[in-house]
Amino acid sequence: MIVGVQTLAGFEKTLHYRVPERLAPLAQTGSLVRVPLLNRTRLGVIASIGAPADFPVSRLKHVLEVVHPFPAMPGDLPELARWMSAYYAAPIDTVIEAMLPASVRKGARLKTERTLRAGRPFLQGELERLEKRAPAQARLAAFLARQLVPQKKSLVLARLGVSAAAADALVEKGLAVEEERRVERTAYADALADGELVAAQPHVLNEGQRAAVEAIRRRLAAGGFGVTLLHGVTGSGKTEVYLRAIQETLERGGGVIFLVPEVALTPQTVGRLRARLEAIAPGHRCVVWHSHLGEGERLDGWRALASGEAKIVVGARSAVFAPVSDLRLVVVDEEHEPAYKQDETPRYNGRDVAVMRAKLRGALCVLGSATPSMESHANALAGKYALVELRERIDNRRLPLIHVVDMRVEAARQRTLPVLSGDLARAMRERFEKKEQTILFINRRGYSSSMLCRKCGHTEECPHCSLKMTYHRTDETLRCHLCGHQRGAPLRCPKCGSPEIRWPGLGTQRVEEAAARLLRDARVERIDTDAMARKNRLRELLAEFRAGKIDVLVGTQMIAKGLDFPNVTLVGLVDADISMHVPDFRARERTFQLLVQVAGRAGRGDRAGEVVVQTFTPSEEVIQFSRHADFAGFAASELEWRRRFGYPPQRHLILHAFRGKNPDKLAFFAEQWARLVERELAGRVELRGPVEAPIAKIEDTYRWQLWYFTNTVTRAVAELNALRARFQWPDDVIQTLDVDAMSLG
Ligand code: ADP
Ligand code: ZN
Ligand code: ZN
Repeated sequence: MIVGVQTLAGFEKTLHYRVPERLAPLAQTGSLVRVPLLNRTRLGVIASIGAPADFPVSRLKHVLEVVHPFPAMPGDLPELARWMSAYYAAPIDTVIEAMLPASVRKGARLKTERTLRAGRPFLQGELERLEKRAPAQARLAAFLARQLVPQKKSLVLARLGVSAAAADALVEKGLAVEEERRVERTAYADALADGELVAAQPHVLNEGQRAAVEAIRRRLAAGGFGVTLLHGVTGSGKTEVYLRAIQETLERGGGVIFLVPEVALTPQTVGRLRARLEAIAPGHRCVVWHSHLGEGERLDGWRALASGEAKIVVGARSAVFAPVSDLRLVVVDEEHEPAYKQDETPRYNGRDVAVMRAKLRGALCVLGSATPSMESHANALAGKYALVELRERIDNRRLPLIHVVDMRVEAARQRTLPVLSGDLARAMRERFEKKEQTILFINRRGYSSSMLCRKCGHTEECPHCSLKMTYHRTDETLRCHLCGHQRGAPLRCPKCGSPEIRWPGLGTQRVEEAAARLLRDARVERIDTDAMARKNRLRELLAEFRAGKIDVLVGTQMIAKGLDFPNVTLVGLVDADISMHVPDFRARERTFQLLVQVAGRAGRGDRAGEVVVQTFTPSEEVIQFSRHADFAGFAASELEWRRRFGYPPQRHLILHAFRGKNPDKLAFFAEQWARLVERELAGRVELRGPVEAPIAKIEDTYRWQLWYFTNTVTRAVAELNALRARFQWPDDVIQTLDVDAMSLG
């Protein structure tokens, strides 16, 4: 048997090897193997079986080992890897490495335990004889004979007070059988620790949900590839629709991948999902996949899916590569989430890979969101995706009232710029008196965004990055949020020595302080990555918040998503302008999403909610559209603007980033390269730049960039790659391509 192997060693080409007789039964397409290559042992994946006709077979080396008894990359995965490599301009081995968890690549051992079960039946009078001569053996044999399932050896011996020698003797006689059994490690076994009761009962669908489920069911019944965009307002019950689609798929014998953003994988949601899924599909196990899994847990999950033992996986981005057998449904919840994009090579978007995987498999892909990405929305408008809408919130709960506060007016009235406007403060007091809860969002951690000298105007930047340092009052430091550099907060201006320092701009700590000062008897807590440094802190705080022990929760967008707290009736967005005025063509889209998601957190229980949005630019279109939760209006205006400037989804955007320690050299080579591209690819890609990246320096490394706009990504990538291979890059300039970049540098 000859196989073509895609090695994980920097070779694009597959290499051929002979499979020795003893390994042949295990070797199939997608199997992970170890092969000799240039005097080393390398990992590889069997990409093809057989060799070209006139192939010189005799001198081929042998495959050394087949790592797992199941193919690590079954079915469509090798083809998906090739597509990703071509589309995302990533070497094939980096793609395969992203697809296969480290524990699978290493072939880590499955955790096992030794078990004992009864062997052959007793002969006439055998047990009685044993009782006299070897009472310990008899005790064990009699115990095992009464058990229905194998027992963990160490436990049984300890409990019965029987020695290992006695057990061995029984095994010798054939009266007991000792076996090795795999131990299944399940992530979030204690998932319900935050005190929520899991409702495993399905809901009775409302009319909208029923129609949505019906539409999806028809597509599933028809079979074949398709994409359905499930656009449902916040609180419209999308999860229930996914669950029914999953149930339908499992009943038809198909497998399912369910992707959620990493942030949504809280124990709360996982516990709820797992309970529902396991109730939906009795006998099916649900594998949970996220970044905090241990290596062993990952390997177990992978094996359970690859062997067909589990047919469903719930997980973050990389779960899109799970070896689910007979995959028929891929669900991507919150499809607009930037978190689906990986920010290192291969820079893939999990949502787009999900669509491609469904295409290769002939499966249905369901994308869900309250605020679909412009890309998916445009595809639905063009008829490429089927559109299913949920327009009503569950039980016709009203969307919260959104109240926009003009901070310019507020500042003029109060003669100073307050953290909390009069309206927000009033509303918070009211809620506190009624024992209802408030969430305050501010998308910046720390105390203030920068330090500013009143006398000379100096602001303190990070010495390693071109970014202002953020003031953290809790420990009196200035910190760089890019590289982590910190120094003590100065008492005098480092430049002119003046003691008149101001701390403009808001951060979570300042908002927390203002809230605590406003409501002196209230319990105010803060959730951001600084506060969460301690393990399990997030979980504890959320549990206490749910239990009503916290009155006001201040946080970054960490808490904007997926959490469902019925007693929260007021949400304040303290500074809506932070996300609006960044130099990115997606800034408005992000702001709209943020506002709608934040508003969705208010009034999920029976009580009506209220949202207060503070901004200096209340007339901005995006604020007005989100005030009325007018997605269609926003999207129409946004798409029109994108069309005019040729931004995605009109065309694809590829970001070419250059990094180096010497800024002049960097600029020089970026210019040279741009000229070459202009000459060679004229008319096929449109070029912008090169320019300094919006953050021109990070950790003492300078950054320049170029954008390409194109309608045909794979071709553009191939052409750029061919040119890149020809160009003389200096060793100290690092360059990367980011296809469908999510942030502009
Ligand atoms: P979305 O994801 O669309 O924002 P969810 O799926 O989180 O909404 O559902 C919102 C809430 O409504 C959840 O608490 C959910 O359990 C509940 N829910 C969903 N469907 C129904 C239904 N048909 N009847 C009653 N409650 C429902
Ligand atoms: Zn100064
Ligand atoms: Zn820095």
